[in-house]
Amino acid sequence: MAFLEISDVRKQFQQNVVVKGFNLGIERGEFVSLLGPSGCGKTTVLRMVAGFESPSAGRILIDGKDVTPLRPNQRNVGMVFQAYALFPNMTVADNVAFGLKVAKRSPSEIKSRVEEMLAMIKLPHLASRYPYQCSGGQQQRVALARALAHKPKVLLLDEPLSALDAKIRVSLREDIRALQRSLGITTIFVTHDQEEALSMSDRVVVMNEGRVDQVGAPFEIYNDPATRFVANFVGTLSVLKGKVLDAKAGRIQVGKSEIIASRKIINHNVGDACSVALRPEAAVLENGHDLGSGRNRLGGTIDEVSFLGSVVRIRVKIDDDAISLDTFNNPSAIPPQRGAPVVVSFTPHDVLVLDGETKH
Ligand code: ATP
Repeated sequence: MAFLEISDVRKQFQQNVVVKGFNLGIERGEFVSLLGPSGCGKTTVLRMVAGFESPSAGRILIDGKDVTPLRPNQRNVGMVFQAYALFPNMTVADNVAFGLKVAKRSPSEIKSRVEEMLAMIKLPHLASRYPYQCSGGQQQRVALARALAHKPKVLLLDEPLSALDAKIRVSLREDIRALQRSLGITTIFVTHDQEEALSMSDRVVVMNEGRVDQVGAPFEIYNDPATRFVANFVGTLSVLKGKVLDAKAGRIQVGKSEIIASRKIINHNVGDACSVALRPEAAVLENGHDLGSGRNRLGGTIDEVSFLGSVVRIRVKIDDDAISLDTFNNPSAIPPQRGAPVVVSFTPHDVLVLDGETKH
């Protein structure tokens, strides 16, 4: 049994079933993200683990103990919310001390624990400030310190970064992960931001309409999406219309060309329509270089060039569809020009065939 077990959990609000048969085991010290679009039930799962909602069915176990009937303060979990839910009329130190005071810890223990927590979040100098005197990023650090002060067994983070601006978000992302690792605390992180989930997590749970579509390490989710929904939700994809010529050999017709997909194409017969999908980093412009035999090649025209800094994203029109691909910015090369005829190439291994199942 895993350290945190969410077993056959269901949640219904009136007629609306928002979490449907949710199962997940999280190991001690693991950092797991719940990722999915708005309304897919991520927060509801987190709130059931915290004890703010009770499941309509199923059980939640922490460290072997069934916590389903317990109130939030009996579960030994710490939670950080999206909006800074600090008490506005209390100083930073009093906010961090709050749970310890409620638990009637001794004044000396509270004092040393608060000092320890403020040092941990690198804000010891803010102890006597009020929340309104702190930046958004500082307030979220304080919220984290408050959630961790009573040494919970599980840390629950509900989109804690989404109200912050982009730069702070990235630095706090790294700090949260470093802190979580050093404490070895089992953590669930809710986000709708795929970059956050992929960059921070040991495993990502992709949710779709109250169900789990896929659970896996970030690279598995990205490189080998289990469903069309996961493929589309996580990362950028270009989709081309294809027709199966030979399912066993992976031969697919795209426009007037033929390509090969090395992943097995299941549930397709000769002549079936299918979707051929590619990640932007999988496709390259050949630019007159021969990148070797065995690659798929499609001719097209540059349709759009987006300069993103170190990366330049190029959209190539191919018949009625388009492939977006990423090239590194090269200051000494002539920038790609709209309207230029080009050849896009990619390996058979990089082709995802989305209609029907695909497996290696
Ligand atoms: P977001 O990223 O927007 O917070 P989410 O994936 O976290 O979305 P939830 O907040 O879990 O989704 O909500 C899932 C569904 O449950 C939504 O349709 C929401 O309207 C509904 N819901 C959540 N809480 C309640 C409630 N207390 N009463 C009725 N419906 C609710």
